[in-house]
Amino acid sequence: MAAGSGAAGPARALCLCSGGLDSLLCLCVLREQGVEAEAVSFASPFYANPEGTARACRRLGFKHHVLDFTADILALLHDPPSGFGSCLNPCIDCHARMIGRAWEYAQENGFDFVATGEVLGQRPMSQQRGPLNRVRNLSGAGDHLLRPLSAKLLDPTAPEREGLVDRSRLLDLQGRNRKPQMALAVKYGIRDYPSPAGGCKLTEPNYCRRLKNLMEHEGLGDARLVEACNHGRHFRFPGGTLVVLGRDRADNEFLRTALRGGDATLRSVNVPGPTALAVRPVEGDLPSIRALVAAYSDSRGVGRIVVRQLFAAVHPEEFSVEPGSRDAFAEFMV
Ligand code: SF4
Repeated sequence: MAAGSGAAGPARALCLCSGGLDSLLCLCVLREQGVEAEAVSFASPFYANPEGTARACRRLGFKHHVLDFTADILALLHDPPSGFGSCLNPCIDCHARMIGRAWEYAQENGFDFVATGEVLGQRPMSQQRGPLNRVRNLSGAGDHLLRPLSAKLLDPTAPEREGLVDRSRLLDLQGRNRKPQMALAVKYGIRDYPSPAGGCKLTEPNYCRRLKNLMEHEGLGDARLVEACNHGRHFRFPGGTLVVLGRDRADNEFLRTALRGGDATLRSVNVPGPTALAVRPVEGDLPSIRALVAAYSDSRGVGRIVVRQLFAAVHPEEFSVEPGSRDAFAEFMV
């Protein structure tokens, strides 16, 4: 059965879409030969908002699905079978799991196969033939995974063998030269597209230091603490208390709303200064945490800082604190 000509209607493909050019080309190449192609992307605390991807798909007329990937990536952070990349990025397993999730969703929703915009040899490690095969095998999608941009250089897959797609109209892109993709972008009218996985925080060393510290102490089960890794400066005090200190207004607002039972927020009341969230603070750390807030407040023109300490659902207390040096807290900074 040729694509688009069967009694059951056109073949249906679910394409993993980062919103980057290659994933949009994957959709376009399949649609051009009559396949009903739709996009899927994944949401988690560690990736950029999929809104940019949704916009790119909308502009090109592709339906866009979003799957919550939070539980999958948290499980992989605890135990990535293939290990981590240079930071806390379990890329091989993450990528395989995304393809696996897409294939599960595809089967539940009447798609015939899944597809990605990967290009053979485009990235030195992850897109060589061996890693591509490894990810395919780990994903569980087997040869229901098609990579249309390099398909002619790879083994034929189920949708090709079954005539759902015409292999001769797939591509043979290879390597790091982006000129063929740019030419295809012009052909398909793709103009604005977000950069692909550049937004993954699991590849950012500063972010990963905070996340790793959280994993080792509180764990990753509390979504607001995972979100807090995006905010402020993080300190781990000698008694074990995690303190997040706002850097700007947005951080301060987030930290005030992140207060839960057992936590405290602290801020200066007689001078401008940051908000601190102390996560279930131990009593012995509190004087130092108040001193931290005082040290980061604007102490010009005042002798002492009044720090208000508020435990959730408890009447606030105020403490007069002599402002000291920020350097005293450098050793606690995560
Ligand atoms: S860069 Fe991030 S999103 Fe991409 S595969 Fe690696 S861990 Fe997953």
